[in-house]
Amino acid sequence: MDAIILLGAPGAGKGTIADLVKEKSGYLHVSTGDMLRAAVKAQTAVGLKAKSFMEAGELVPDEVIIGIVRERMAQGGQDEKYMFDGFPRTLEQARLLDAVMEEAGSRVSRVFLLEASKELLVSRISGRRICRNCGAVYHVQNIPPKVEGVCDSCGGELYQRKDDSEETVLNRLEVYKKQTAALIDYYDAKSILLRLDASQPKEVTQARILEVLSRS
Ligand code: ADP
Ligand code: ZN
Repeated sequence: MDAIILLGAPGAGKGTIADLVKEKSGYLHVSTGDMLRAAVKAQTAVGLKAKSFMEAGELVPDEVIIGIVRERMAQGGQDEKYMFDGFPRTLEQARLLDAVMEEAGSRVSRVFLLEASKELLVSRISGRRICRNCGAVYHVQNIPPKVEGVCDSCGGELYQRKDDSEETVLNRLEVYKKQTAALIDYYDAKSILLRLDASQPKEVTQARILEVLSRS
């Protein structure tokens, strides 16, 4: 079992990069945000607990997150390679992941930190559009779909996430600073953190990550 993490503020491009990297690396993309949105849509118990936190741009409580991640990892085989996106987001979650990896005789091998200015993050989030059907991520200027409002890969309808509205975005960036940024030091201290400039074209970031993964 192996695990790598894409770390970075909302809008840094974690989901987009994960989509590009997974196809060429064999890593399984695990996005807690996508899992939670699916749970909200299906109105499961987890979804009902998570909904109000997500809409306000606050973090969903650790015990909920830890539950869904454990469940997801229990489905994977011994040789699974996980690429986490949007998880862990607190020190508590990071410690839990370390414990799960240790139980499996492994560890988190790499953490890719996607760094970007606040201006860039806000513009990326406010232009972001998501496919209702497959979750593919677009941007009205940077990654436009071929046909406006329609997903290139599955033909699904594109929508704007409720928490991508201007007020909620600023709160999410605050929450990142207060609760998630501490993970940078946590992983740097383990010497597994790699900083990447998230303002570069996504193909450049993808290539850099694939190169690093192919060496380890
Ligand atoms: P982004 O990285 O752009 O904020 P995500 O899809 O990763 O988007 O997350 C959307 C929302 O889902 C978060 O604002 C938060 O409410 C919730 N969420 C996702 N992952 C976690 C997590 N690991 N811990 C707590 N809350 C989470
Ligand atoms: Zn789609």
